[in-house]
Amino acid sequence: MRCDHCTHDVPDGVFCTRCGAHQGTTEEIGDAKKREHRYAAHPGEHVAQPSVFTTLFPHLGHHKIHEFRWAFFVGIAGVLVLWLAGLITAAILVSAFLVPVLYLIYLYEAQVYRDEPAIVLGFTIGGGIVVGIVVTVLERLVYNPIQYMPNPLAGAGINVGGLFLVGLLFPVIQEVLKPLPAFFLPNRADFPETVDGLVFGVAAGLGFSLAETLIGFSSTLTSLPPHVPPGNWIYDLTTIAIFQPLLQGSATGMILAAIWRQRLGRLGGREIGGVAMAVIAHIAFSGGSQLLKDSSVNQLFVLVWQAVVVGSLLIYIRYLLHHALLEEAAHMGFAETVCPSCHMHIYASGFCPNCGMALTAAPSAVKRSRSSRKEASGTAPRKN
Ligand SMILES: [Zn+2]
Ligand SMILES: [Zn+2]
Repeated sequence: MRCDHCTHDVPDGVFCTRCGAHQGTTEEIGDAKKREHRYAAHPGEHVAQPSVFTTLFPHLGHHKIHEFRWAFFVGIAGVLVLWLAGLITAAILVSAFLVPVLYLIYLYEAQVYRDEPAIVLGFTIGGGIVVGIVVTVLERLVYNPIQYMPNPLAGAGINVGGLFLVGLLFPVIQEVLKPLPAFFLPNRADFPETVDGLVFGVAAGLGFSLAETLIGFSSTLTSLPPHVPPGNWIYDLTTIAIFQPLLQGSATGMILAAIWRQRLGRLGGREIGGVAMAVIAHIAFSGGSQLLKDSSVNQLFVLVWQAVVVGSLLIYIRYLLHHALLEEAAHMGFAETVCPSCHMHIYASGFCPNCGMALTAAPSAVKRSRSSRKEASGTAPRKN
């Protein structure tokens, strides 16, 4: 079969294994080459679907994604039970650790770090924690911690100076500093693909988020009696458990993905837009939340606002990664492998001819088995 889009001769399939273009002509809408109805890391979804797990955990197949979703919901249910029981200190701790721990399990599960777990985890999650400790301590020296961290007992009234720090200056500083450790990852040449940059960034952002939350709530954690009336804590707990880590992880993930693209010599408007989007989203998240809290509207609106910001950030990440995968996966050489998404035995280069998954987003074990077969068949190994 000859692909209409890249004009290579490729095995028969719904998708071109070289360029990922959709080969169907009926019922499909939009550009077959960009195929935005089939997200390259998870072809079952549209690119513009604000899904948390398929975006930030890109190496997982359907089944594993499902397990992680369940683990997350069990964790959230646990937080809810602790809140109802009035065990706020325990609920804060579970909330702070939930997403970072899930991500650590994911990195292990997908073997994203390949043979270098210590270095990669140290420079991503570890680096994020160190930056988080330093930045949060300095921020608290500059700004009154009682007002800075969410506190249901804080009074109303808009504080312009505080809003400037919390809503503008701190987010920009954080977005500059969070990616630094992963930027200096010594063996980063082993991880050339944009999807690696994204995952490292998310890990660093989650490390930061963990340190930020624990330090921000340190006085609450040490002073609050173990058992108190549940009160309004559920709003802050939702932010700590879900939106804060997702915001911090996604923003740094996007920035490092853009840096990885720049290293591949593919820095374009989409990547610069991604960095801008990460910074703007962080400002909108922190500034907007602070403003809404100061004007003492129903706290539910704060959560809705945070969800909207995080959702838009996730969609932009998918847009960036989708196009990166389509561009970068084009020249992998042919090999027999099993598609991690549709589980078909396939003979493929960059994309599964059956479901269109970009095979650069496959877990390490799949890629490894693939390269050994490729060498056995005498084809040159892939150059990075
Ligand atoms: Zn093609
Ligand atoms: Zn497939």
